[in-house]
This record gives sequence, C-alpha cells and structure tokens, in this order.
Amino acid sequence: MTAPEDPRIGRLAVLVGERGRCVGSAVPDAWFPPEAGLSEQARARAVVSARALCAGCPVITACLALALATGEEHGVSGANAAHERAAMLRTEPTATGQLTLWPAEDATGHAA
Ligand code: SF4
Repeated sequence: MTAPEDPRIGRLAVLVGERGRCVGSAVPDAWFPPEAGLSEQARARAVVSARALCAGCPVITACLALALATGEEHGVSGANAAHERAAMLRTEPTATGQLTLWPAEDATGHAA
C-alpha cells in the first residue's frame, strides 16, 4: 500500500470529495450494501445497482485509485466492490500504481 502521507492520496480525496457523483447523495448507503444479512444474490444485485450509479461519474478512475491506495475495505468505489478491489491488490500488488494516472491533476480535477 502507498504510504498514507503520499500527497497524491490527499489530492485524490479532494477531487473525489468535490466531484464524486455520490457526494451529497440522498441515498449514500447505496454504495455500501450491507455486508451481512443479505443473500448472496441480494448482495450481488446491490453491487450491480451501485456500479450503475458510478457509471458516468467524472472521477471514477480517481475514486478507484483512491480506494486501492487507501485499502478501503467496504462498499463500492470506482464501480468496484470491496472484494473486487481486494482481488486486484492480490493479483496485482502494484495496482496502487494507478495513482500515477493523476500526476498532472490538481485538486480541482483540472489538468495542471
Ligand atoms: S465512482 Fe462511484 S463511489 Fe466513486 S465517487 Fe463516483 S459515484 Fe462515488
């Protein structure tokens, strides 16, 4: 995992916090389906719904990079469920290298 003090993580967090489609949503739990108490099918449907909500989000890649870099263990981020992100990190430990997709991005999302 990338060191928490990596300034790119802070920039990603600001970008996602300012421009994420889910920010300020009336149904924030939609991105955090219950991890217990649902059947496997119901949980899969909830993830599909959250993934659809992420579609078209202007910061979807930054959101995924942030979740990978911070090791977010819950919810759907960047259209990927927690178990999918964990699999990415297991199979490609350098997945946090996606942070390099954003080197010229300032905190507002405009190219520097
Ligand atoms: S990609 Fe999805 S979870 Fe991430 S900021 Fe956008 S809407 Fe929210």
